[in-house]
Amino acid sequence: MIALFIGAPASGKDTQAYLLQKYHQFTPVSGGEALREEVEKGGAQAPLIQAYMDRGELVPDEITNEAVANYIRQLGVSDRLALTGGVRRMHQVPAFDALMTKIGQSLTAAIYLKIDDATVYDRVAGRLYAPGSNQTYHVKYKPPKVPGFCDISGEPLVKRADDNEAAVAERLRSFHTETQVVIDYYREQGLLHEIDASQDIQVVYQEIERVLELPHIAS
Ligand code: AMP
Repeated sequence: MIALFIGAPASGKDTQAYLLQKYHQFTPVSGGEALREEVEKGGAQAPLIQAYMDRGELVPDEITNEAVANYIRQLGVSDRLALTGGVRRMHQVPAFDALMTKIGQSLTAAIYLKIDDATVYDRVAGRLYAPGSNQTYHVKYKPPKVPGFCDISGEPLVKRADDNEAAVAERLRSFHTETQVVIDYYREQGLLHEIDASQDIQVVYQEIERVLELPHIAS
C-alpha cells in the first residue's frame, strides 16, 4: 500500500505520515527530508540543493527523483510507504511510477490535504522542527510535551531556514502552479482523495484511515 500526500507547506503531510507510522506501521518518505539528507552527505550537489531549498524553490527534478529513490533504497522497505511531497511537479510523476514498479508497487491513493494560504502562513509562523527525528511541532496546534524539545528524540527544536515569509510565498507559488497540475492529473486518474486539512489533526487522520480502508486505531 502506497500513500502519496500532496499539499501546500504546513498542510500536515509529515504529521499525518507519522501517525500512519505510529498506528499502521507505515514508513514515512519525505521529499524534503530526502533532499536534506543529500545536503548533509555533502556531495557535489549539496550547495545547489541547499540554495534551492532556502529560497523555497523546487529542486530540479533529476536531483529530487534520485534523492527520493536513494532514500527508499536505504530504507529497504517496499510496502506501506507514506510519501510526503516527493511528487510536486508533473515531470516527477513518470520517475515516481518507475520507482514504484521497481519495488513491485503502484500508487494506492493520492491524498490532497487542502488548506488556504492564510492558514499556511499562520501554521508556518508557529512551526518548529526537530532535524534529527524529522518531527514537526506547532507552538499552538501541536505543542511538544516539554516546550522547545522533541518528544521523540529529546533534541532542541529549531525553526526551519525555509519557514520564512519570502520562502513560504515561493513555496505557495510553486504549489498553486506546478503541484496543482499533479493534483488535476491524479483526479483524472481516479486516485485523488481530497481532505479538508484545516480540521483538527485527529479528524484529518481518521479521514485518511477511511480513504486507505485501514481499521481505526484510537490514540
Ligand atoms: P518539505 O520538507 O516537504 O517542506 O520540502 C522542503 C523543500 O524541499 C521544498 O521547499 C523544496 O525546495 C524541496 N523539495 C521537497 N520535495 C520536492 C520535490 N518533489 N520536488 C522539488 N523540490 C522538492
